[in-house]
Amino acid sequence: MRDDSRPVGKEQGMFGVSDEQRLAVESFRRFAEKRLRPLGDRYEKAGAPPSREETIALFREIGEFGLLGALVRDEDGGSGIGMIGLALFSEEIARHWAGFAFTVAIQAAGAGLLSELGTPEQKRRLLGPTLRGESVPCMCISEPGVGSNVAEAKARADEDGDDFVVSGQKLWISNGDISDFAIVVARTGNEGLSYVIVERDAHGYQTRPIRKMALHSTFTSEVFFDGARVPKTNLLGERGKGLRQTVRLFERPRTLLCMCAV
Ligand SMILES: Cc1cc2nc3c(=O)[nH]c(=O)nc-3n(C[C@H](O)[C@H](O)[C@H](O)COP(=O)(O)OP(=O)(O)OC[C@H]3O[C@@H](n4cnc5c(N)ncnc54)[C@H](O)[C@@H]3O)c2cc1C
Repeated sequence: MRDDSRPVGKEQGMFGVSDEQRLAVESFRRFAEKRLRPLGDRYEKAGAPPSREETIALFREIGEFGLLGALVRDEDGGSGIGMIGLALFSEEIARHWAGFAFTVAIQAAGAGLLSELGTPEQKRRLLGPTLRGESVPCMCISEPGVGSNVAEAKARADEDGDDFVVSGQKLWISNGDISDFAIVVARTGNEGLSYVIVERDAHGYQTRPIRKMALHSTFTSEVFFDGARVPKTNLLGERGKGLRQTVRLFERPRTLLCMCAV
């Protein structure tokens, strides 16, 4: 049941929610009630997410509250909201539209990954549009038969001259259908897993929506990489450190998705 009179963050006192965060979330709550609630009802009933265009327009609106830059460093244009703040915002979105809370959490987490691991060139090219909600990342870890056991990922990024050639199938990928680029966990040589950025227009990949039992109003996809040729400069973070990066950084979206269930 929705309880709109509930004071924001009182029960999160142990995490040190500041007065500023409390006020920001209360103001967002009014926006979410008015703007997102009717959309949540509409799209869950319709059994499908909004179009990419409408999603991007909504990203712009919620971008005003700083959500998309919550996990981005100050020097990269972050909003300073941080993980606790974003978790509170996610809870507010999910009260009206759980599917969209997923969509936003992945967008914010993607921006955070670029800020944390990206080279100056990657940030210049991809981070600005992601922060503005104009470019959509998806994060490709899970595969058929590979979920919690990330170390078993089979997708490959094979070296060929100055390029990686990326092949493999990813499953359950949030925002895959509307994505412009994919951050792919793939096996590079014998060193283990690395992150490689594959851009849809420049390098090519295919997506297919997955029909689910619930959360119809969020995008969840299969993603197929069929020998996508990507310059080595698209390596994100340290080569061979993909498993460690995943354990360290993917706890963020997981925590945010937990907030959608609160
Ligand atoms: C709506 C939705 C969106 C998603 N979005 C993304 C996304 O954007 N990108 C992405 O890469 N993936 C995504 N996923 C996939 C998600 O991350 C996986 O479902 C998750 O990692 C669990 O993997 P699994 O489903 O294969 O379950 P399994 O790995 O088979 O786990 C099933 C259960 O067994 C437990 N378990 C597993 N191994 C052990 C063990 N060794 N010891 C004890 N318990 C264990 C798990 O905790 C879990 O409770 C999404 C999934 C959904 C449903």
